Amino acid sequence: MFPVPLPERRDLTPEEVAAITRILGDDSVVVAKDDLQPYAHDWTEDFVLYPALAARPRSTAEVARLVAYCNERRIPVTPQGGRTCLTGGAIPLAGGVALSLERMNRILEIDASNLVAIVEPGVITQTLHEAVEELGLYYPPDPASRGSCTLGGNLAENAGGPHSAKYGVTGKWVLGLEAVMADGSVMTTGGKTRKDVAGYDLTALLVGSEGTLAVITKAWLRLIPKPKVSATLLAPFPTLESAARCVAEIHRQGLVPSACEFVDKPCVDVSSKRKGVAVPFPDAEARLLFDFDGAEDAEVERDLVRAGEIATACGALEVLLATDEARRRVLWDVRRGIGEAVRDLGPSAELDLGVPRTEFVPLVSALRRIAGEWGFGAVAFGHAADGNLHVHLYREGGGSVDAGRFAEAIAAIYAETARLGGTVAAEHGVGFTSREHLHLCRPPAYRAALLAIKRALDPNGILNPGKVLTS
Ligand SMILES: Cc1cc2nc3c(=O)[nH]c(=O)nc-3n(C[C@H](O)[C@H](O)[C@H](O)COP(=O)(O)OP(=O)(O)OC[C@H]3O[C@@H](n4cnc5c(N)ncnc54)[C@H](O)[C@@H]3O)c2cc1C
Repeated sequence: MFPVPLPERRDLTPEEVAAITRILGDDSVVVAKDDLQPYAHDWTEDFVLYPALAARPRSTAEVARLVAYCNERRIPVTPQGGRTCLTGGAIPLAGGVALSLERMNRILEIDASNLVAIVEPGVITQTLHEAVEELGLYYPPDPASRGSCTLGGNLAENAGGPHSAKYGVTGKWVLGLEAVMADGSVMTTGGKTRKDVAGYDLTALLVGSEGTLAVITKAWLRLIPKPKVSATLLAPFPTLESAARCVAEIHRQGLVPSACEFVDKPCVDVSSKRKGVAVPFPDAEARLLFDFDGAEDAEVERDLVRAGEIATACGALEVLLATDEARRRVLWDVRRGIGEAVRDLGPSAELDLGVPRTEFVPLVSALRRIAGEWGFGAVAFGHAADGNLHVHLYREGGGSVDAGRFAEAIAAIYAETARLGGTVAAEHGVGFTSREHLHLCRPPAYRAALLAIKRALDPNGILNPGKVLTS
C-alpha cells in the first residue's frame, strides 16, 4: 500500500500513443504491459505502479519534442535512470510516460587538460569511473549502487556514497548541465569553465531536483587526478560509543579519511551470513571502515598508522589494515553487501537520515528503542563522517506488516532525527516516501519557496508529480 495519496492516474489515448510514436519512432516506445514491468518500479520496497507508456529517446532533441508534447497534453512525465532509487523517485505515480534515459548513455568527451568529462545522463556511474581511471583520472562520487545507477540519477538525487566523506556529494562535481525544461525548451547552465558565478546558480537548483523541475540530458563533470595510493583500515568496537569516539577523534586530530563507514552488528550478521563468510570479532557491536588516499605511500601510511593508534586508544578490539586491492576488497566485502542483504530480513522500509556527527550514536540508540517499542527490528549502517545513517526497519520474523504501525514507527524515528538537528533525506532524495516528513527539517518559508520554484518552472505540474512536494 502506498503511504501517500497518489496523484490522479493519467492513461494515454490511442492518438496520444500514436503521436509519441511519431516523435520517437516505433523502437523507442514501449506499451505492452509485460514490457512495461521494469519501468513500473525502482528499488523502493515493493511499490509498483505502471506507466501508460515508456519512452526511450536517443537524443536531447527527442526528449525536448516529447516533453513539449506531454506538456501540451498535460501528460505526466517521470524521468528514469537506473531505477535504483530508494525513495520511490522513479516510480510513475500518475501513470503517463516513464521517460527512460537508458539509451542516452555515451561519454561524449574526457578532456584531460581541463579535467572535465562531458556525459549523457544514462551513463552507468561505474562506466565513467572505469573510463576516467584508465587515463589516471578520478570522478569521486560513488554510490554503493554504482554498477547499476546512472549519472543522470546521481545528479537528480545529488547522490553521495562512501567517499563523500572526503570528496563530497555529486553536486560538488558538476560544472554545468543541459536540461529539457517542462515546456520542451533546452537550457544549458554552464560548461568547461571552472569559475562562473553569472546569475543565480541554476546548476545547483537542478542538482537534487529529483526530476521535478527538468530532465537532465547532458552534464559537464569535474575530474581530478586519481590518488596514487589508497589503503583501508577496519576496526571492530565493543560498543557504539567507542566507535563514535573514534570517528570524532580521527577528525579532531586532523585526519581526513576518504571513506568512514559505520556498520552495526545486526548488519554485519545479515551480510556475512548471506555471503557465507566469517568476520573477526563477530560479537563486536560496531565496526568502522576507513579509507585513506593520497599521492605518496608515505603520506597514506602515516595516516593509516595514526588512525590505527587512535582506534586502539578508543577501544578497538583489533585493527586490520590493507594496502593492496585484493585485500581491501575483502575488508569492504561485508559492508558492500549490506544494501542487498538487509532485504532478507523481511518486509521493511529504508530511511536515509542525516544528523550532526556527534548525534550519530544517540540516533542509533533512539531508533533501536523506537523500533522495539513498535514491535519492529532496526539495523543501521552508513557514512559516519557525514552523520548519514541508513536505517532498515523491518518486521522481525517476517510475516505481514501492519502498515499503520509501520508508518507510526517511521514517523517517530523521523521526529527524533529532527529533534537531534537532522534531516529526513541525507543522500537518497525525498521522493514520495519522505515527502510527508519534509516539514520536520524544512520550515514553511523554505517549502513555500520550493513550491514557487516548481510552479514557475513546471506550471502544469507534468514533471514527476507526487515527488518532493505535497502539492
Ligand atoms: C544497493 C543500493 C545502494 C545504494 N547506495 C547509495 C549510496 O551509497 N549513496 C546514494 O546517494 N544513493 C545510493 N543508492 C540510491 C540510488 O542508487 C541513488 O539515488 C542513485 O543516484 C539513483 O540513480 P538512478 O540512475 O538509479 O536513478 P533512478 O532511480 O532512475 O531515478 C532517481 C531519481 O532521479 C530522477 N532522474 C533520473 N534520471 C534523471 C534525469 N536524467 N533527469 C532528471 N531526473 C532524473 C528520477 O525521476 C528519480 O526521481 C543506493 C541504491 C541501492 C539500490
